[in-house]
Amino acid sequence: MDLELSPDDLCFRDDVRALISATFPPPERFDGSRAHEDRWRQAMAAKGWAANKWPVEFGGPGWTPAQAFVWERETTAAGLPPQVGGMGMGMLAPILFAYGTPEQQARFLPAILEDRERWCQGYSEPGSGSDLASLRTRAVRDGDAYVVNGEKIWTSGAHTADWMFCLTRTSDEARPQAGITFLLIDMRAPGVAVHPIISIDGRHAFNRVTFDNVRTPLENRIGEEGRGWTYAKGLLTHERTGQAFVSLSLELLAGLKEAAAALAGPDGASLLDDPSFAARLALAEMELKALEMTELRTLWQVQAGSAPGAQSSILKLKGAEIVQRMTEFFVECAGPYAAPWFPEVAGPAPVPPVGPPWVRRELARYFEGRAASIAGGTDEIQRNIIAKHVLHL
Ligand SMILES: Cc1cc2nc3c(=O)[nH]c(=O)nc-3n(C[C@H](O)[C@H](O)[C@H](O)COP(=O)(O)OP(=O)(O)OC[C@H]3O[C@@H](n4cnc5c(N)ncnc54)[C@H](O)[C@@H]3O)c2cc1C
Repeated sequence: MDLELSPDDLCFRDDVRALISATFPPPERFDGSRAHEDRWRQAMAAKGWAANKWPVEFGGPGWTPAQAFVWERETTAAGLPPQVGGMGMGMLAPILFAYGTPEQQARFLPAILEDRERWCQGYSEPGSGSDLASLRTRAVRDGDAYVVNGEKIWTSGAHTADWMFCLTRTSDEARPQAGITFLLIDMRAPGVAVHPIISIDGRHAFNRVTFDNVRTPLENRIGEEGRGWTYAKGLLTHERTGQAFVSLSLELLAGLKEAAAALAGPDGASLLDDPSFAARLALAEMELKALEMTELRTLWQVQAGSAPGAQSSILKLKGAEIVQRMTEFFVECAGPYAAPWFPEVAGPAPVPPVGPPWVRRELARYFEGRAASIAGGTDEIQRNIIAKHVLHL
């Protein structure tokens, strides 16, 4: 595997940088708003890069692994999402490519690509998170439709989604994994109710979603009845491959070095000059480098046509650990300022903020980073998968 960028890759990198600075001319930066997302999606679409992880036959750009790597690094370093279009773009589309009918592909993929329809993921239920195969939301066939009853929880973005890709139970007879069916459910169908869950930071990202006799046409079933577990497993490996957080950790590391270098003690030496801090940071950087190599190896294998498999659990587990360690370093740098006032939680601050300018942003990322060990399958579940499928224990 050759990790050196070729002259063509360097030209491509210049193209990417030009697109970024033309879309968000410095000092303007992407702010995460829908307006900025739209601007970024349109700029990518004009180059044919909006669905940059999709195969060519479905409108992807057909990048080499090196180009995909350059894209991910350059966009993340500039604070831009490598892709917009959320779970539809990144998680459902690969399932539609592999298991959707031509009609399903024609119906749903263009709307994902043009960001006309947003998707949420209906997997977890109360009591069925890690033990997902025990899920109980039931789908019963009735003429030309399934009638769905039950509830989902921790459904990110359900309140803004048009559709949910959902795991439902259609049979209790075989082993639990065999009786699961993958359905696409219209969030505006009668009987679907979204109940907000407000998190400790005051944000509304999660929901509980209930289904009361929701009719879902048979044509919205992916693949065969009872085979949903197989399809979902494929999708989870894609989700976890994208959760190595390498670009994010690289961005954090760069900011961290800057912040630590600027923090001078009474003797004028910076925190970066502290041998203990510098040694721990160097160790984290080496681990990040090793993770980056593993991610690249996986990327190359996926591009060559093989499924990521259990390797994606290694990426997710180590990726979460390293991103959390980077944010912990920021807490250390912040020292006595590591408990900033968050107006979203505590209301308007009574006094002007104190401490370095990055404190609020990085401390928010420290708290958010805890979710990396849970979402998409917990650390313990990744270890179980590695033990079974990699170490054959
Ligand atoms: C930010 C975020 C976004 C999310 N978004 C979505 C979403 O959009 N859609 C969706 O469906 N779900 C979503 N989830 C839910 C997520 O998938 C579940 O939280 C996760 O699968 C864990 O399930 P649980 O919360 O029920 O915990 P549990 O499964 O109850 O686990 C509790 C603890 O027990 C441990 N444990 C459980 N089983 C084992 C075992 N066999 N061996 C060892 N340890 C074990 C776990 O590791 C964990 O520490 C999201 C979660 C987060 C944090």
